[in-house]
Amino acid sequence: MSSILENRMLQVEERIKRACERSGRSREDVQIIAVTKYVSLDTTIDALEHGLRHLGENRWQDAQAKWEAISSNEQLAAEGGQPVWHFIGSLQTNKVKDVIGKFTYIHSLDRLSLAQAIDKRASQLGIIVPCFIQVNVSGEDSKHGIEPKQLFSFVVQLQQFKSLQPIGLMTMAPYEAEPEQTRFVFRALRGLRDELQQRTPEVQSITQLSMGMSNDFEVAIEEGATWIRLGTTLVGKEEE
Ligand SMILES: *Cc1c(COP(=O)(O)O)cnc(C)c1O
Repeated sequence: MSSILENRMLQVEERIKRACERSGRSREDVQIIAVTKYVSLDTTIDALEHGLRHLGENRWQDAQAKWEAISSNEQLAAEGGQPVWHFIGSLQTNKVKDVIGKFTYIHSLDRLSLAQAIDKRASQLGIIVPCFIQVNVSGEDSKHGIEPKQLFSFVVQLQQFKSLQPIGLMTMAPYEAEPEQTRFVFRALRGLRDELQQRTPEVQSITQLSMGMSNDFEVAIEEGATWIRLGTTLVGKEEE
């Protein structure tokens, strides 16, 4: 198992490095989230023992057992191997009480009612939750996220929430056999980030871009991704 993981990590690292070189970016500006939703607890611990630090899960129901086992794993804690958890899936308002306080980052902020629920829970816990606003750039009906033209007023409305900090934008590109075809999606998200910086100078915290998955992460890096979310190509996909 480990050597398969080591190989995948090396290959991914090489591909990230080359994408950074092609686009004149520094390797340190791109962080990896290992998406463990398709793999077992053992594989997830293996990933942590190999130095992966950021874990992504997209459903609380599926992540709960893993989260509990890892959080109480004293050996991992002693080795400094406790992860930073990223919630990357769409978040139901009634799951906010479970997720906030356990997952450090939320990548799927897509509506005001969710912002309100996160803010309320975070304020009870006395924490500030860094969030990515999910934008539906590709316009597919099947994708979550707010529409680009609603982004500016959404960001302004978020200002009322003191326990939630918008730190970036997130998107998912459609699956394409030819990854180059996804470029317009990532470029558009970066454009929105840049426009936000100009139009809403009061919200300078929105700097990061969570974009790129196994199939398209190199294109996303070339277009400015600061967080890439890698499942299959990094930690694999196991059958149930
Ligand atoms: C599953 C998932 C990923 C990772 O998918 P892979 O194609 O396996 O890399 C990334 N982001 C989100 C939001 C996901 O749900």
